[in-house]
Amino acid sequence: MKTVFVHPERCIGCRHCEMACAIEHSKSQDLFGMLFETPRSKPRIHVELGIDFMTFPNRCRHCDPAPCMQVCPTGALHRDVETGSVLVNYSTCIGCAMCAMVCPFDIISFNKVWSIQLDHEVNTKCDHCIDRQQAGNIPACVEACKTGALEFGDANTIIRSSRKDFTVRTTLALKGEEAPSLPPNIEAFRDIMAKVSQFGTLG
Ligand code: SF4
Ligand code: SF4
Repeated sequence: MKTVFVHPERCIGCRHCEMACAIEHSKSQDLFGMLFETPRSKPRIHVELGIDFMTFPNRCRHCDPAPCMQVCPTGALHRDVETGSVLVNYSTCIGCAMCAMVCPFDIISFNKVWSIQLDHEVNTKCDHCIDRQQAGNIPACVEACKTGALEFGDANTIIRSSRKDFTVRTTLALKGEEAPSLPPNIEAFRDIMAKVSQFGTLG
């Protein structure tokens, strides 16, 4: 199973992934073209601010079984057999939000889309960049993320790699040595944001 794996410790909240996602799902697939489109394309990955200016890029996990699919009264949500991606048929989505109520990750949002004329907003969740995948490319959010916070690949392979890193860090700690867990520039960014957070939260 291929998926987008999130390494939250590497996310610096730059929102490049959100922008790339919005461009990818726009009519023109171009930043400046997108700005003049109606309806404006919206990202399907959401970078939310947590505590101490830490951020998390939240997106559809394409669960199997998927609670959203199970409750959709019109069958608008369905699974692509080849990639396992949970997709939305905009023409049969009635915008009832049942899917959003049961999604354990709160990643569904409702918007109008350029590809079909409808009076109502529809579920515009992540489609796993299925067109890009079918063309042999990785999802746009992963390509745009420059810190490595988003990684696309076989889930078991990525998890095994993370597990090996964890084992190395743990065994080094047992020897009294410290292993760098993050690139120096991300460590420096984290230090700065930790100091900024001492002044309190925004708003
Ligand atoms: S929308 Fe939510 S429930 Fe549905 S597949 Fe994605 S993460 Fe799972
Ligand atoms: S909002 Fe659309 S996709 Fe979600 S449950 Fe209703 S009909 Fe299905």
